[in-house]
Amino acid sequence: MQLAARNAHMAGEGGDGWAILFRAREMIAAGQAVTMLTIGEPDARTDPKILAAMHASAMGGNTGYTDIAGQRALRAEIAARVGARTGVATRPEQVIVTPGGQAALFAAHMALLDAGDTGLYVAPFYPTYPGTIRAGGAQAVAVPTRPENDFQPEAATLDAAARATGAKTLLINTPNNPTGVLYGRETLEGIAEVCQRRDLWLISDEVYDTQVWEGAHLSLRALPEMAARTLVIGSLSKSHAMTGARIGWIVGPEDVVEALHQLAINTTYGVPGFVQDAALFALQQGAAVEARNAAPYRRRRDIAARVLAGSQAVRLIHPAGAMYVMADIRATGLSGDAFAHRLLAEERIGVMPGESFGAAAAGHLRIALTQEDGLLEAALARLRAFAEALLP
Ligand code: PLP
Repeated sequence: MQLAARNAHMAGEGGDGWAILFRAREMIAAGQAVTMLTIGEPDARTDPKILAAMHASAMGGNTGYTDIAGQRALRAEIAARVGARTGVATRPEQVIVTPGGQAALFAAHMALLDAGDTGLYVAPFYPTYPGTIRAGGAQAVAVPTRPENDFQPEAATLDAAARATGAKTLLINTPNNPTGVLYGRETLEGIAEVCQRRDLWLISDEVYDTQVWEGAHLSLRALPEMAARTLVIGSLSKSHAMTGARIGWIVGPEDVVEALHQLAINTTYGVPGFVQDAALFALQQGAAVEARNAAPYRRRRDIAARVLAGSQAVRLIHPAGAMYVMADIRATGLSGDAFAHRLLAEERIGVMPGESFGAAAAGHLRIALTQEDGLLEAALARLRAFAEALLP
């Protein structure tokens, strides 16, 4: 008896960042004080008011099967939100509610790619991306970006990859995990042009769209001619610290949403109604609450910029959004992996090696801004001193 080949096929191609995480957890279990700047989970817990809305909904009886594409009121709220953010009129029929952004990424690729098709994704990348594309039998091809260009995708590189592979989809993420960069208008216009020239579907992962520190978040869906070929992925995991609730969405053309509905009938069969009611309540709290939730990461981004300013050993990639900063430590002569292992062993600070997000981030570290300010500042000062001591 054999397992399906797709299980092996799904395995990622980033380095083994988990090794750091597991080692750090072992050290903590053995009583050592480790500062964890590894995982991308808000350090705040879900607002009790959201939990109260969830409780009231469940106690009120919303515990049965729900509308599989999502409750009407929530689809309408998401349509209004994405419509307002992109300037593209959006109807509830263009929205499907999913159990989180990850399930949305999976469903989007399942709906658009047949086995043997090619899906592109930008590297460095969120580690699930290649496996998500491959799960349905498609080929996943990374399109690298360069630290010298602040990891912004370059249209010529994308175009060459699309032409060479005959790809059908392109997956992007802005604000970006792991780099903390925000794609500017020029970058997005370049991507839009490639999508049109090469007839690509664009899957736009915007789960960090409330965490923007400079300028404004711009969705590719807002660019001319793009709404008809773009699926926007959203989630309340980061904006409302609702990682455990598993609630997200896809917004796209109605015929794609209809296909996604069929997929949901055969997979998730919808998202719990009480979670959807809590999500509706959360979204109705408005932009001020979202800005308040994002504020700690902005403050900590500023702390990181201040503590690491002027270092010859640690150079920050310009961080403009999301809850991470990416640091270039190539001047120390160590790989990101070697640096992260030594930092953990010698300074008891856990960070993710750049290599775990693909070779494009080799010689870098991803630092999650998910510890309170004082702890983060002290850890970064030690990281800087550690790196500088390694300089030749
Ligand atoms: N996309 C990116 C870039 C992420 O960083 C994450 C989570 O860390 C997700 C998607 C998935 O988020 P969730 O499934 O919790 O909505």
